[in-house]
Amino acid sequence: MVTPDVVMRLPRTLAAPPRMVLLRLLEDAASELEEALVLLTACGVPECAHLPIGVIDRLLLAAHRAVVGRDLEVVVECPACRTLNELPLGAADVPAYAPRWAWCGPGAGVREPTGADLLGLPDDPDAAASELLRRCTAGPTDAVDVPRTHAALDRAEQSLCGEVRVACIQCEQTVVHHVDVQQLVVAAVARAVAHVDIEVHLIASRYGWDLSTIEALPERRRVRLAALAAGAAR
Ligand SMILES: [Zn+2]
Repeated sequence: MVTPDVVMRLPRTLAAPPRMVLLRLLEDAASELEEALVLLTACGVPECAHLPIGVIDRLLLAAHRAVVGRDLEVVVECPACRTLNELPLGAADVPAYAPRWAWCGPGAGVREPTGADLLGLPDDPDAAASELLRRCTAGPTDAVDVPRTHAALDRAEQSLCGEVRVACIQCEQTVVHHVDVQQLVVAAVARAVAHVDIEVHLIASRYGWDLSTIEALPERRRVRLAALAAGAAR
């Protein structure tokens, strides 16, 4: 289980591997959560599947910065005046993480799900919710009569997925937007690494090198050659 010590020792910044390496690693992931865990492992987070989802989401913000080179940001249109509001989602912009359990009765509670708790759940949504609750049940076994509820699980979990409310910079109307950090970071990283394929294609088309030669190029050299090849193609 995660203690405050573990949370304090979590890195605030991460280092990402070359995009070519990340592209190959992400190809094998079967779900969005698996992609998120592969990404964190590649960025040097040990045993990330056993971290609570609230910690995983905060580390994903650091991974976004490591791969993309800037903080995650969401642009939200104000429904009243149509102004576009930028919503910064860097590691320093979200609520700090604090380990939390939800109390359901004497000696009985639920803990926040870890990444591993969310893997391999049944396909049926109701069965999946029940199985997740069973996995996250905490407290002595003699407290089995105290019902653990989905509402308690909601209180315990600290994922960065839910509604965010901001005041519009133009008209101060409250703008409500649904944010899912895991989904946003995985999509942004997928876009960033997909560009590697375009670079490889540009270099192969221009120089006629075989794939293994191009893929063995250092990251910066590949980016530079692809830019030159793109320039020559215009
Ligand atoms: Zn507005």
